[in-house]
Amino acid sequence: MVLRQPIVAVLGHVDHGKTTLLDKIRGTTLAAREPGGVTQHIGATEVPLATIKKVCEALPGAARLTVPGLLFIDTPGHEAFTNLRSRGGALADIAVLVVDVREGFKPQTLESLKILRARKTPFVVALNKIDMLDAWRDHPGSAFVASFNEQLEAVQQGLDERIYRIIERFHEMGIPSDRYDRIADFRKTVALVPVAAKIGEGIPDLLLVLAGLAQRYLEEELRVGEGPARGTVLEVKHEKGIGTAMDSILVSGTLHEGDTLVVGGLDGAVETRVKGLQKPAALSEIRDPKRRFVSLKEVGAAAGVRVFIPDTEGVVPGALFRVANTPSEREEARREVQEESVPKIELQEQGIFIRADAIGSLEGLAFELRSKEVPVKSARVGAVTRKEVLDVALSPEPLHRAILAFSTDVLPDAKEAAHAADAAVIEGKVIYKVVEDYIEWRDARKKRALEDARKEVVFPAKFIALPDHTFRASKPAIFGVRVLAGRLRPGVRVLRNDGRVVGELKSIRTGEETIAEAWPGDEVAVAVDDVTMGRQLSEGDTLYMDMNETDARRLRGLDLSDDERAVLDEITKIKRKHEARFWGM
Ligand code: GDP
Repeated sequence: MVLRQPIVAVLGHVDHGKTTLLDKIRGTTLAAREPGGVTQHIGATEVPLATIKKVCEALPGAARLTVPGLLFIDTPGHEAFTNLRSRGGALADIAVLVVDVREGFKPQTLESLKILRARKTPFVVALNKIDMLDAWRDHPGSAFVASFNEQLEAVQQGLDERIYRIIERFHEMGIPSDRYDRIADFRKTVALVPVAAKIGEGIPDLLLVLAGLAQRYLEEELRVGEGPARGTVLEVKHEKGIGTAMDSILVSGTLHEGDTLVVGGLDGAVETRVKGLQKPAALSEIRDPKRRFVSLKEVGAAAGVRVFIPDTEGVVPGALFRVANTPSEREEARREVQEESVPKIELQEQGIFIRADAIGSLEGLAFELRSKEVPVKSARVGAVTRKEVLDVALSPEPLHRAILAFSTDVLPDAKEAAHAADAAVIEGKVIYKVVEDYIEWRDARKKRALEDARKEVVFPAKFIALPDHTFRASKPAIFGVRVLAGRLRPGVRVLRNDGRVVGELKSIRTGEETIAEAWPGDEVAVAVDDVTMGRQLSEGDTLYMDMNETDARRLRGLDLSDDERAVLDEITKIKRKHEARFWGM
């Protein structure tokens, strides 16, 4: 049985060492084949079995490997992971989650884990930067197990303690994990491989665990079989006179020059033809440095390959392709590619709009929004247009008047329209950041709306008429009060605690100054119409601001302070006792 190379993605928190790891793996591969020099690659780095065997010589198990090698996707990160898809799931068969051993889990580690679990992608954890641990003795390029044995006991313990903390974090998430060399069943336990990507320490162990895991547990996915060639487009270049070059990853089957290809595009599936195929030249074959690619008649999976097709509109990064050389195959391929090109996103009756550069990223964005319970009404690949902005600005819910644009353009007239129409266009190149920015915008808008509502509404207030502070008995009565709770504002009638409503508070003054509002603890003079001090009101009375039932109900919907709420409750009690049994319900 022939297995293809498993496709490997590298994920993890920023600065934990994803790029360094990929660079080192590429370098290791080159070093094992040819001394010096840099070779080209198309979207992915191939690590052939021979290289793995050579690098892993010292480790048990290397001799039994039969996978033809590993194919690392060059673009690290969970955005790339979600964006690069294959039929029915992630493009990568298996993943390396890079975690800085000193820092442990960080937000993007958790985000990566969430995505890996959702896609059911097996993964290995590279616990990176062990060389940064106190007193670690570097063994560049060596296997971790060998280097570990050379460390002082205290250093060994220090590392194991850190590993243990990480095992505990995994345990809390219901994921069993252990240091890879202590694992009996790799299917049940996530392998933790300590590495120092920068100096290549532990890389042999990592490659061995990855290859072994893929070989043993992904056989089904890796069987090459008889099926048609399928792949995923990473990058598209239109070259005048030559046509369109699609840098792609061939996921399964064998691709031939002359094959008929069905490619998923922005506007559905398109049919085209393979004009040519290229792969990077082996170092030994490069004589002319300008000619680093070689043309081939056929390429087998899995591989990074440049596919030339006649100029084709609508082919976008993330598109899937499939070979279909007969009419019946074409029908099936169209259906398959078409289906995969329709984003799998649950749309709501009401919600925000989202736009992205590729189907996968659109889905990634939708996934993140769903986890934050943000409803999405419209999702599309492509740039943000003026019409869409005007559409979203008509949402009945003001908090939905936003378009999120992930890694995609916003047309200039769309920006202007957003400004004019009071809708938000939120752009960004990191999914979780775009979502965070939206939530920030939404919360700010919510807060502003609440504040506006508070300004209009009558406020609960409780105050006391101070003894010996009547300045004028009537027309209007002017007397001193102390605010006990809530907010005192003019323009409101006065409620006594026996339920009677008397007079209207016309103004509030402190010294010579008229003020709009008085707060708990303030002692101010108030002018009240239609009352006479000593008759309807007396010094020492506890008083409230009157309100109607609508005000009371609206107030309950606002976030009141504790004392405001308490006053509202007192007013409700008075009203229910003296006015109506179910007042304010
Ligand atoms: P990324 O954001 O995950 O791709 O992280 P990078 O690969 O860019 O690494 C971030 C920083 O950590 C860089 O300065 C690297 O040189 C450094 N770094 C990465 N791996 C190691 C390692 O194993 N040991 C040490 N000492 N530094 C490392």
